[in-house]
Amino acid sequence: MNQVFDNELFEAFANASDNIYIYVTDIATDVTRWSKKAVEFFNLSGEYLTGVKDMWPMYIHPDDVAIYVADITAVFNGTSTQHNCQYRVRNRYGEYVWVECRGSIIFDSDGMPSVFAGIMTRLDNQNKYDALTHQLSGYELFRYDIHESGSLMLIGIDKLRTLNSRYGNLYGNRVIAYLAKVLQKAAGHMTLYRYWGGDFVVYGKNVETQEMIATFKKAFAACNEVEQDSDLANFVISAGIVGFSKYDSMSTLMRRAEMAMAYAKRNNASHVCVYTEEIEKQQLRRSRISEDLIRSIQNNFEGFYLVYQPLMSNDGDEVCGCEALLRWKPGDASIGSCYPGEFIEILEENGGIKEVGSFVMRETIRQQADWSKRYKKFYSSFNVSYLQMEDPEFIPSILKTCKEFDVDPENIVMELTESVLARDTVMVKKSFEMLRDGGIRIALDDFGTGNSSFWTLHNISVDIIKLDQSFVRGLDASDEKIDYAIVESVALMCKLIGCHTVAEGIENEEVWKCVEKYKFSSLQGYHFSRPIPLGEFEVFLQNHAMGL
Ligand code: C2E
Ligand code: CA
Ligand code: CA
Repeated sequence: MNQVFDNELFEAFANASDNIYIYVTDIATDVTRWSKKAVEFFNLSGEYLTGVKDMWPMYIHPDDVAIYVADITAVFNGTSTQHNCQYRVRNRYGEYVWVECRGSIIFDSDGMPSVFAGIMTRLDNQNKYDALTHQLSGYELFRYDIHESGSLMLIGIDKLRTLNSRYGNLYGNRVIAYLAKVLQKAAGHMTLYRYWGGDFVVYGKNVETQEMIATFKKAFAACNEVEQDSDLANFVISAGIVGFSKYDSMSTLMRRAEMAMAYAKRNNASHVCVYTEEIEKQQLRRSRISEDLIRSIQNNFEGFYLVYQPLMSNDGDEVCGCEALLRWKPGDASIGSCYPGEFIEILEENGGIKEVGSFVMRETIRQQADWSKRYKKFYSSFNVSYLQMEDPEFIPSILKTCKEFDVDPENIVMELTESVLARDTVMVKKSFEMLRDGGIRIALDDFGTGNSSFWTLHNISVDIIKLDQSFVRGLDASDEKIDYAIVESVALMCKLIGCHTVAEGIENEEVWKCVEKYKFSSLQGYHFSRPIPLGEFEVFLQNHAMGL
């Protein structure tokens, strides 16, 4: 038995830490013993190895080999007694991790080098725990080998980016730290990881998805009551849950959990969703659409075009303007048809809406320039997403485009929904002043569908109110007094405040008859025309342009 390696001290040091590996080389035989944890982590061929000095460079990152060789050669040729350098080594997962390796030569009683011994410290493991929340880091999650069944939950803060930009990153960090505490309590015996940003993972060995949902609900309620025991404002969280067996890989689970979470954020009022194959199918369609939309944008907006729906005068006989509505023909035939209700949301998610929104604005103004030459009073309106309003360049660019095409801004209307208007009053008010100074009119779209319609009217002066089609469309089949009362009172209110009104959703003759008596300023709906391509719209215009 080799006394150099096989002693209790070696065992004791070898087991002392997960971060530190130890090694001892018997110089006479050139055999090195490594601690078992190193053998496992680096996938070495055994605990006892011969010729390590020459074998080790195969594990070292090519860029760091020279540093290692120079240092270790100096030790073994007697120029130095200390090995001390940092380099990257490939572990059993094929990843390179930084290590610091230190060692010394021990001399025998004759002054000859007999033993080379030292420690290797893993520097990556210093990041095992996240500094902000003191939870296991996301990196650790992917190290975990699944040997059981259970469920996993990806859970995170909604709109963290908005919180950060509104109140500062330090505030955002405090919210994240708060959520970590809440989750630690709610997760009980389960393992908690801080995955990334405001997202955490709760890993539940042998935990059913139902139990995981209950955990979510506990955490959700706690985040809703933050105000009571801190100076933070309440915040909202969402989660995706996935059940697993020992045959699943962590990357598959996380992909599924992310899909479920994205779905929960979009569609699920309870903010939590358990992964199903159907969700995966929907999510795959969304990613396919998202990729194709980006390709379209990069190819000079290939596939995007506008259709126009007439806005009729209050007697329904004459055209007074149009609403430009966006259409998109996907390049990827497997997508099939894709309507604005679907692709606009995806553009808002993938960031493409700013570019596409500018395309819509420019196309609308360019086309209006042509109509303005023939019909002095005709106007065009286009839709604007809330994300476009966050871009300080957007409003100036509208005014610039009007100038470029020599269009009177009075003939351009911007349609915004109340959720946009209620967002950030200071910013919105500033944008509005600019628009108003420039002469562009603002329409409040889908009036009545949000939860702040009157608040919006009270705070922001708009030029046009478009009563949402959901109040109008079904009037012909409704016996409900309230439906008529809503339409009548909105019409009356607009008259009192001197606001131009549009009734949307006049689908047919019957609806038109129901609405006619309320004297809206303008009317829009399938009864007059569906949104139609430019050529068809020109014909419609010629036939209905008496008042222009
Ligand atoms: P919206 O702004 O409320 O546009 C009116 C929608 O109602 C249009 O649907 C139009 O086709 C439909 N519509 C018009 N008359 C009737 C009717 O009588 N009955 C019924 N059932 N529907 C009617 P579309 O074109 O599918 O657009 C859907 C939504 O997509 C729009 O709602 C708007 O929110 C958004 N959108 C469309 N184009 C753009 C755009 O260029 N930019 C942005 N940000 N959003 C757009
Ligand atoms: Ca609209
Ligand atoms: Ca609308």
